[in-house]
Amino acid sequence: MPRQPNILFIMADDHAAKAISAYDSRIVTTPNLDRIAEAGKRLDHCYVTNSICTPSRASILTGTYNHVNGVTTLVTLLDNRWPNVAKSLQAGGYATAIFGKWHLGEGPRHCPTGFDTWRVLPDQGAYFDPDMIGPEGLRYYRGYATDLITDHCLDWLAARDRDRPFFLMCHHKAPHRPFSPAPRHARLFEDETIPVPESFDDNYKNRARAAAAAKMRVRVDMNYDDLGLVWPEGLADSWNEEIGWPERAKVPNPEDPRDLVLFDRNTGERFTFASKRELDHFKYQRYIKRYLRTVVAIDENVGRLLDWLEEDGIANDTIVIYTSDQGFFLGEHGWFDKRFIYEESLQMPFLIRYPAGFGPGVVDAIATNVDFAPTFLDYAGLAVPSYMQGRSLRPVLEGRVPDDWSQVAYHRYWMHKDAIHNCFAHYGIRDQRHKLIYWYNEALDQPGARRGDEPPEWELFDCEADPLELVNVFHDPAKANVVRDMIATLDAKLAEIGDTPEHDTTAVLAELA
Ligand code: CA
Repeated sequence: MPRQPNILFIMADDHAAKAISAYDSRIVTTPNLDRIAEAGKRLDHCYVTNSICTPSRASILTGTYNHVNGVTTLVTLLDNRWPNVAKSLQAGGYATAIFGKWHLGEGPRHCPTGFDTWRVLPDQGAYFDPDMIGPEGLRYYRGYATDLITDHCLDWLAARDRDRPFFLMCHHKAPHRPFSPAPRHARLFEDETIPVPESFDDNYKNRARAAAAAKMRVRVDMNYDDLGLVWPEGLADSWNEEIGWPERAKVPNPEDPRDLVLFDRNTGERFTFASKRELDHFKYQRYIKRYLRTVVAIDENVGRLLDWLEEDGIANDTIVIYTSDQGFFLGEHGWFDKRFIYEESLQMPFLIRYPAGFGPGVVDAIATNVDFAPTFLDYAGLAVPSYMQGRSLRPVLEGRVPDDWSQVAYHRYWMHKDAIHNCFAHYGIRDQRHKLIYWYNEALDQPGARRGDEPPEWELFDCEADPLELVNVFHDPAKANVVRDMIATLDAKLAEIGDTPEHDTTAVLAELA
């Protein structure tokens, strides 16, 4: 029997595929992430089952959807008595460790379990000089989080028990809000203009109301922290658990900005604006450059890990994965943030190499984050427990897509009208051609969310004809058959995974007839 491979799982927080050059990024070069793609597979249709941090992490660890693991929102934490993939690998002979962002809760009921060694950022964690929690308690570390998390991983790899294969989760905080770069990257891209996405000026017409209602517009909703600007006097202490930053913490968006003066937080540089257009340009460039600088630090640190595997002579026997807990809007539809089933937020970058297992290439099959845990177990030669709902990607990675492979990804976002982003609750599916969305717009007693007051709506997008998702064709008579098929597929998916439908199929089909 072949030796069990090592598994190095590197995950960023909010890293969009469009900010990785292996995914043909127009805005950044990531040579080290590309090393994984060059020797391995690039998945072009890997999707998250709930596009926010905490639920995605619970799905990855347990191989289950959020209505099953209970982690539907940012405040419903994972009960660590749950079985998870680290526990299975640990019991199956693996040395296991996690360093970096956890975001599934703290204390005896929520701290990491299944790991021989762990040291994680509390809650969202800090970019600079972060506290980290381990079994020994809380300690403070000096430095930049992306570098420190990698340092912890390298130290553990060097000191590990070499008689056992390892499972190491390296979880970065970057490039999450507030997009704080390492000092060595503070001036990167300074003299460049980063291209603005085609859909930046989206007017949200012919779409469900959720798009226009979302408070995640680069022009309107970014705050002084996000853009690295000096807070106005008295604002820095106004964070509130319930409401987040108050509206006035957002950088102003006046029609005539000639009276507006902003200052860089580090250099004191003073910015004024002759027109609204200039201010809009300033905000997008500030945002995207800060975001990309944090991506460059990740890329450098992934390079350190890859170099170490090579120098240690174990690169051939080690599965290396690079992914992100979900995607992110980099100005598409005028937005930052995630949460929506729209493509930039739904798509997880997923690069995987295993030189002893498979060659390079692009994978078109649909995968989701509940498939990760079964994949690890399959390669480890361990049984996939029956509670897991995903399916091993191994045959897909090895070029043998099974005939009964589900080419349908399911996504559900539960936090209706959350206090900060005002996104509406919805669920839907994406297959290889279309995307169907049902905006049920109800809080359904989920903690951290509010009861809805919006009537439900449906959306259908043709992902081939309209990849930017600008035209809802649900009511287009030419698409009536597609709508019927997609609703049937949605119903089958809900039944398969055991989630509760909020729509009434009979009623909607009668309306369409
Ligand atoms: Ca995230």
